[in-house]
Amino acid sequence: MKRLNKPIVTKETIRNMEDMSWFIHARIFDDLLIVAQKETNCFVLKTTEGLIVIDAIWPSQKAFDAIIDGIKDVGWNPETIKKLVLTHGHVDHTGCGKWFIEKYHVDTYLSETDDKFWEQCPTKPDRPETWKDYDITVHIKDGDSITLGDKTIYVYNTPGHTPGGLSYIFPVTENNKVYMAALWGGTTPPRTGRGVVQYLKSLDYFMEKAADKKVDVALSNHTSVDNGLERIRYSKARMSYMPNIYVVGQEGFRKYCQVFRTMSYDVLEELL
Ligand SMILES: [Zn+2]
Repeated sequence: MKRLNKPIVTKETIRNMEDMSWFIHARIFDDLLIVAQKETNCFVLKTTEGLIVIDAIWPSQKAFDAIIDGIKDVGWNPETIKKLVLTHGHVDHTGCGKWFIEKYHVDTYLSETDDKFWEQCPTKPDRPETWKDYDITVHIKDGDSITLGDKTIYVYNTPGHTPGGLSYIFPVTENNKVYMAALWGGTTPPRTGRGVVQYLKSLDYFMEKAADKKVDVALSNHTSVDNGLERIRYSKARMSYMPNIYVVGQEGFRKYCQVFRTMSYDVLEELL
């Protein structure tokens, strides 16, 4: 059977990133919640000292409400949200962060480069309502780690999609078994040759770090890349005797990363 080797991204895909009419969420590990709209998703990691939100969908009260509703639905307490960790400075990830600051006084994390990029090169330059609208508390960089309670998020500098994009590796658990999850922060390659080279170098670097950390869980912040909506639906309905679909194994993670190479080669072919 011939299967797609890359996601189909159309103008509708881009439009759908702003569709706040519909959300879905699932607790995909004992300590990890995913909340998605049609194209973009975020994660909530539970620690012994509170919750860490990773990415924030879109600057919309509806996105914020959906994340909070998801947290409540799985029995966690939104009052314990302590941190908002961002992968990169695009509006579909910086999202509804300002509401987390207003309501829960969270500390926010992003690279200094992408903090400036977010301010100076907005994703939608003609739409002020999508511009940078909150401050970053902590500028993080390659080799840093973010610790709260029993969890540590390892930070990797993976420029390419944006100049200061970050990717993360962190532990998740199910039935007391610990897995290592990897989130490649900036999904698609940029549209310049130099940019694609940087993106591919970042991918090599991140895959090397993922191998060191024995990553066996593949996460994405865009649902079109990883059958995200289907994985969420499966996880919601999953029986106790069925496998966790996010656990792909170390070899599976390497295979999954091939999609980022395939997309890069496509861009290079178009540019040549
Ligand atoms: Zn982006």
